[in-house]
This record gives sequence, structure tokens and C-alpha cells, in this order.
Amino acid sequence: MPGTGTSPRAGFVGLGAMGLPMARNLHRHGLLAATWNRSPEKAAALAAETGVPAAGSLAELAASCDVVVTCVSADQDLLDVLEALLPGLRPGAVVVDCSTVAAGTAREAARRLAASGAGFLDCPVSGGTEGARAGTLSIMVGGEPEVLARARPVLEAMGGSITHMGPAGAGQAAKATNQVMVAGINQAVTEALAFGRAQGLPMDELIAALESGAAGNWFLSKRGRTMIRGEFPLGFKVGLHAKDLEICRRMAGELGVKLPLVEMTLAHYARLPAESADEDISALFRLKSDMFPGSDD
Ligand code: NAP
Repeated sequence: MPGTGTSPRAGFVGLGAMGLPMARNLHRHGLLAATWNRSPEKAAALAAETGVPAAGSLAELAASCDVVVTCVSADQDLLDVLEALLPGLRPGAVVVDCSTVAAGTAREAARRLAASGAGFLDCPVSGGTEGARAGTLSIMVGGEPEVLARARPVLEAMGGSITHMGPAGAGQAAKATNQVMVAGINQAVTEALAFGRAQGLPMDELIAALESGAAGNWFLSKRGRTMIRGEFPLGFKVGLHAKDLEICRRMAGELGVKLPLVEMTLAHYARLPAESADEDISALFRLKSDMFPGSDD
């Protein structure tokens, strides 16, 4: 552990689209001591690949680690996982949650862990599955500075930038801000490319021209070329972004405000076919294309 001259032993819970590559980066840095996944075959496959054991239970994982990273789907999933970790957590251990949940849920998690002598950091991430693989995620941190200092080597193995935003919940508030912006960028890129295609423009050349000018952005470069082919590989699931936008809606509601981008994007996601919930958010391009008669998407 930091301060003792040894590296923290890290455990990882939630080997999904984000969690698996993040856990692999912990292993590359020699920090990964154990993993656990609800569907055990994913942890078994990672054990076969890396030699890092799959723990038999969450309490067993907690008992063997200084820092436990969680990356699960939504608020109740996180609270359930914490409940199961608690009996095994060592005094002074830190839980680093990289899921996207409400700021209030992060504060509740911090309260529950503090009562048993463990630290909690809300550490939602941005940068997509590409950033998770490359270890370049932007990590927005809420929690106590001394807890952050203990977990920092683990965060540095997964992220390219680590920004302390304030006390518990502040990381999730920053992530909610990010998700409002992602909604606007998705709206802008999908609508503009559907419009450009309806103008009969050569789409690969159009994307190359746009990305080197003032309209260039991450989403255009990473998702533009697949969406114009009617492909929406993950990425970031529509269902997960809708979950995040519900969080943004509640947080804005607490301030007495309705955010137009949030309301419009939730309404548009609801109009996508049911199977799109598991597609990348660039599937919004389907809806934008349908506005133009004769669209071949
Ligand atoms: P995912 O591929 O659907 O993986 C979800 C993971 O959570 C799986 O390992 C799943 O286990 C586990 N899980 C879900 N509910 C659980 C429960 N009740 N108990 C225990 N484990 C549970 O999702 P993801 O894309 O990795 O996203 C994970 C989190 O990161 C979400 O909060 C998401 O909003 C956030 N995020 C995602 C992205 C992205 O680009 N994908 C970017 C930034 C942040 P099973 O394998 O058993 O289903």
C-alpha cells in the first residue's frame, strides 16, 4: 500500500464491456489480485488468460484486497455488490466505484462503508471501451483526498487523467454533466450525417473533411464511419445512456429544471426498436435517417 512501500492488491468486480479491459490493465501493472463477476464464466476466462484467481464470493475477494474496483450497471447493482463485499472488507480498504450512478447513491455508498471503517471513492469514467482498453480513461473522482492517495496507483493503471472533483458524489455529478454533453454530441453527429447523406455527398470524404475542421470530435471520428454503414458496434449501450440520462433528469429536476437535450434524447431512444437497447448509442442514426425519404438505412 502507498505509505508502506508496497503496491496495493486490487480486486475487480464487474467484467463487462468496460470492466474487462480495465481489469486487464490492472493485471499489466501487476496490481490485480482477484476478480469476481456475476456470470462466473467471465471471471474464469480471465483467470485462464492471466492466472489471476476468480474469487468464490464477493466477501472472499474483499478479504484478499486493499482496493476493490467495481464497474457494474446501475445504482441498485452497486448497492447490492457493496452489501456483499462488506463482511470481507479489511479496515482501511478502499472501494473505487467506476459505474455511472446517481450522486446521491455514491454518497449513500460512502456512508455505508465509512460505518465499517472502509473508504469509498466515486470514480465514474469517460472515454468508452477504447479508453478502457488503452488505459486512457478520464476518471472523475469524488471522496476524501487521503483515500484518493491510497487508491491512486490503481486509478493510474486504468486512466490517463484523474481529476478530484470534491467530496463523495462530486465525481458522479461531473459524470452526469458529461452525459448531458454526450447526448448533445450524439444528436448533432447523427442528425448532421443523415442530412449530409441525403445531400448525396461522398460520406467517407465528408467525415474526413469534417473531423479535421471545427466540427471535429471524438464521436464523429470513432463512430461516424460505422454508423453510415448501418453498423453500431459497442461502444456504449443505448440502454446504459438512457439510464444515465434518467439520472441527469432527476438531478436537474431537483433544481427545478428540465434539460431540453436530456428530454429529447430520452424520447428519441424510446422510439428506437427494442433491440437497439443493446446497440451503441450511434444507433440514433437510424431515427435521423428515417426523417429523409428514400434513405437506404
Ligand atoms: P456491461 O457490459 O453491461 O457490464 C455490466 C457488468 O456489471 C457485467 O459484468 C455484469 O455482470 C455486472 N452486473 C450488472 N448487474 C449486476 C449485479 N446486480 N450484481 C453484480 N454484477 C452485476 O456494461 P459496461 O458497458 O461495462 O458499463 C458498466 C458501467 O460503466 C455502467 O454503469 C456504465 O454506465 C458505465 N460506463 C460505460 C461506458 C461504455 O462505453 N460502455 C463508458 C463509461 C461508463 P454479468 O456479466 O453477469 O452481466
